[in-house]
Order: sequence, then structure tokens, then C-alpha cells
Amino acid sequence: MPRPTCRICEAPGDARTIVDALLSQKIFLREIAKQTGFSKSSVHRHSRNCYIAGAAKSLQSVRFDPARDRVFVRWPGQPFDEAKLAKNDWIVNVVYEKLEVENPSAPVDEALAEDRARTAAKAELLADPILPENPPN
Ligand SMILES: [Zn+2]
Repeated sequence: MPRPTCRICEAPGDARTIVDALLSQKIFLREIAKQTGFSKSSVHRHSRNCYIAGAAKSLQSVRFDPARDRVFVRWPGQPFDEAKLAKNDWIVNVVYEKLEVENPSAPVDEALAEDRARTAAKAELLADPILPENPPN
């Protein structure tokens, strides 16, 4: 429910619709403030008090009804026939998280390089043994 003191809800025109659309896109509050001219704290207050209440209210009207609704799972890389969907069908989209691993082969490369260096040093030592300067008599 909009609070009576919310500047965004009270603003004329499409201000609230625009801010809500940006919030739905998960745009940072400071970026929304920059784009719309509202203060970051106004955007924050609106997101906490008005936007969430509106989103929750809209979800209540589209609740899953197990007696009427069906669930389909859309797997990445698998064909999915949207033509067979009915009005009350739900789609669960499976998305694999992409992990940001920095150069995962680095430890293996490092270990192989160290092994090559040790093997080379050992071969060098065997080919040209260091003799003591003053061999014992
Ligand atoms: Zn508001």
C-alpha cells in the first residue's frame, strides 16, 4: 500500500510505474535515483514500503492451484514445446550458475612446471656432478 508520504507514489505522471519497472529489473537504487531524479533514500523507502507491498499483492492473485495448474520444467539445452502449454501452466526455468573461476588449470600448470624444473636440475646434477674443491686424501 502506498504510504501517504511517499514522494514517488505522489509524483505526477508515470513516475511510480517507471521506478517500479526499474526496481523489477533489479537496477541499483543509486542508479534509479540518478535516472529518475528522486533521492536514493526516496527510492529506498518506496522500494521497501510501496513496491514490495504491490509485488506481494500481485502475487496473491496468481497463486499456484494444484487442482487446476500444471508445472513444466524447462532444462537448459533441452527442447521445450510452448505450444502444449495451457493458460494455468507454470514453467520452472532451470538456469545453471556460471562460476567465475580464475585460471583453474594454474595449479596443475604450476606443479608440472615445478616438476620439469626439478627433473632438469636433477639431470644436470647427474651429468655434471659437483666435486668438492679439496677432496679428502
Ligand atoms: Zn511509494
